[in-house]
Amino acid sequence: MSSPLIIDGRAIADKILGDCKARSAQLSAPRGRSPGLAVVLVGENPASRAYVRSKDKTCRELGFHSVKEELPEGTLQADLLALIARLNADARVDGILVQSPLPAPLDEGAVVRAIDPTKDVDGFHPLNVAKLALSDLSGFVPCTPLGCQRLLLEAGVEVAGAHVVVLGRSLIVGKSLALLLMQKGPGADATVTVAHSRSRDLRAITRSADVIVAAIGRANSLRADDVRDGAVVIDVGINRVDDPTDKRGYRLVGDVDFAGVAPKCRAITPVPGGVGPMTIAMLMANTLKSFAQRAV
Ligand code: NAP
Repeated sequence: MSSPLIIDGRAIADKILGDCKARSAQLSAPRGRSPGLAVVLVGENPASRAYVRSKDKTCRELGFHSVKEELPEGTLQADLLALIARLNADARVDGILVQSPLPAPLDEGAVVRAIDPTKDVDGFHPLNVAKLALSDLSGFVPCTPLGCQRLLLEAGVEVAGAHVVVLGRSLIVGKSLALLLMQKGPGADATVTVAHSRSRDLRAITRSADVIVAAIGRANSLRADDVRDGAVVIDVGINRVDDPTDKRGYRLVGDVDFAGVAPKCRAITPVPGGVGPMTIAMLMANTLKSFAQRAV
């Protein structure tokens, strides 16, 4: 096999962010304001803090209005809902994102349902999930699946008619990506199989795939023998593995045994630098979409 295309998610994300910045400047002038994104963080989870920081930084780079709401561990559900109500009513805010996971005993489902669906740029509100299922393009699609679809498009991978195997059935990734890729239209029309921890004979399923998307959450889950020659592999996983040579004491890897799988692939995404940067880029794109849909 010739060497695989390593899909550069960072470069594609940078291009999308550049387009968002230009379009935002155009739309902002007549409105007298720029798109606004509010990110709500509850507690001290270090990974969540890092995600929130990077979302805030990207907002600022694009000239978006960025609101960072940090609440202490132990915040009451009623206080969190009151904050959401305030952000729903804030005309400078087009997108609201509550960083997951919320500390117990906060009820994440109730919080998501409290967000105005027209500001739900994460796409987790039941109305937006229903719109995705109904192929109603006015809604918001979760950012990671949207990023996977866009990566495939930008890398020139035709999914129409192809067999795409999605490993994982969470709403945040697997289930939403399956709904997206089975729609009619550009970047879709795929034959989708969704597999999960109860799937039997997984190797036979993945070996029949033209495209595999791994969203499992366990390092080295997809190995060379699981993939047929010429497949395209998108690795959504973000897993910490101990690495004493790294100053943090760990490094991030995906769900795919990259060294073993890559030589068999036509194209593959690395971790880091694949799906991760696309998730933030699509969050900005969704915020801009919300801004554009609002009356001038
Ligand atoms: P999740 O909610 O834990 O879902 C994992 C899914 O994988 C479940 O559906 C589970 O099946 C399935 N699974 C577990 N073991 C399996 C196996 N051996 N074979 C096949 N399927 C298996 O995780 P998630 O939120 O979807 O995230 C998945 C991964 O993506 C994580 O590493 C996460 O950090 C990463 N992620 C990355 C981004 C990004 O921006 N790059 C964004 C979101 C998530 P059951 O349903 O049967 O339990």
